[in-house]
Amino acid sequence: QHQIALRRLSKINDLDTLKKNLSDIEIASGNIKEGIEGCIGDTPLIKIKSLSEATGCEILAKAEFLNGAGNSPKDRVALSIIQMAEEKGFLVPHSGDTIYEGTVGSTGISLAAICRARGYKAHICMPNDMATEKSDLLLKLGAEVERVKPAPIVDQNQFVNLARTRAKEHTESKEKPGRGLFADQFENEANWRAHFTSTGPEIYEQTGGVVDAFVSGAGTGGTISGVALFLKSKLPDFKVVLADPQGSGLFNKVKYGVMFDPKEREGTRRRHQVDTIVEGIGINRVTHNFEVGRELIDDAIRVTDEQATGMARWLVEHDGIFVGSSSAVNCVAATKLAKQLGPGHRIVTLLCDSGARHLSKFWANKDVGGAENDVSLDRILAS
Ligand code: PMP
Repeated sequence: QHQIALRRLSKINDLDTLKKNLSDIEIASGNIKEGIEGCIGDTPLIKIKSLSEATGCEILAKAEFLNGAGNSPKDRVALSIIQMAEEKGFLVPHSGDTIYEGTVGSTGISLAAICRARGYKAHICMPNDMATEKSDLLLKLGAEVERVKPAPIVDQNQFVNLARTRAKEHTESKEKPGRGLFADQFENEANWRAHFTSTGPEIYEQTGGVVDAFVSGAGTGGTISGVALFLKSKLPDFKVVLADPQGSGLFNKVKYGVMFDPKEREGTRRRHQVDTIVEGIGINRVTHNFEVGRELIDDAIRVTDEQATGMARWLVEHDGIFVGSSSAVNCVAATKLAKQLGPGHRIVTLLCDSGARHLSKFWANKDVGGAENDVSLDRILAS
């Protein structure tokens, strides 16, 4: 076969050019990833050309959907949570130990994939109004999935509370092997630390430290806190701006220091994810992972569902970038910030997950201009 290959090549008349092209490709020696965990982090930083041209700023997006385990920034968090638990001796592979988590999807998917790779079981509690693509994927990854009615955090059956209870039940059970570990992404230090030690430094390196602002939504708050703590410690004039979907209380918290309208004690959003089709960001309580970086957030930008769906369509039409709802919210806020700051600035945001995970909900929604193509950016931002 070696001879056949050589004979075939000898008949190719542009072999020299072909070989030159080949030698341009870096031979992969030393570039082998150690399992799926090895494919987490080091995501590309993409210049979004259409938004950069339209604003005169450089709008750069970290392609977090290219994390190789669960295809979102939550890969970094899930790995960090598991590693920290292993270091403390809370988890033993192949012992029946099971990780329990309350998640709207992404963290569960990352945990489920890494659990498979490391010899654990995953049990995921999630609200039943999230896109079904996420629960389907979790089942295929072998996780046990409990989809529960959306409820306020004070309710014992709220998805996060339920996951905590299930972990405790497992540990106390005489029949189940191993122990139950509640991953606790909202309160667990391992979350913001993952972004402090990886996402933040990657942005710093990829921009050569020349960057003016970071824009991000917050679900647990781990991303915005970890990145803010790192980049603000490096760059004195750096700005951090929260991108907040309609209905979330975090916007008010950042802008005015209070989360709730006093007339309505539970906030504008009675339970997580009710007033918006955006998934994964926006919340009505201050979690530990948000609190860690809260004082470092300079401003907040509110984004409507219409703006988000319009932006998602815009990114496909102009850049061939197909993203989910939280990424679209981030891009709306990054563009608004670019317009506020004026041309010549460099802004980094995150593309969290692919639109493929949102076909049945976010992408099933009518966007600005309906079926009309080529809606202007100004019209999207004003919607
Ligand atoms: N985007 C998506 C799709 C998410 O699922 C989440 C987390 N739930 C976020 C963004 C927000 O990240 P963080 O939890 O770090 O605030």
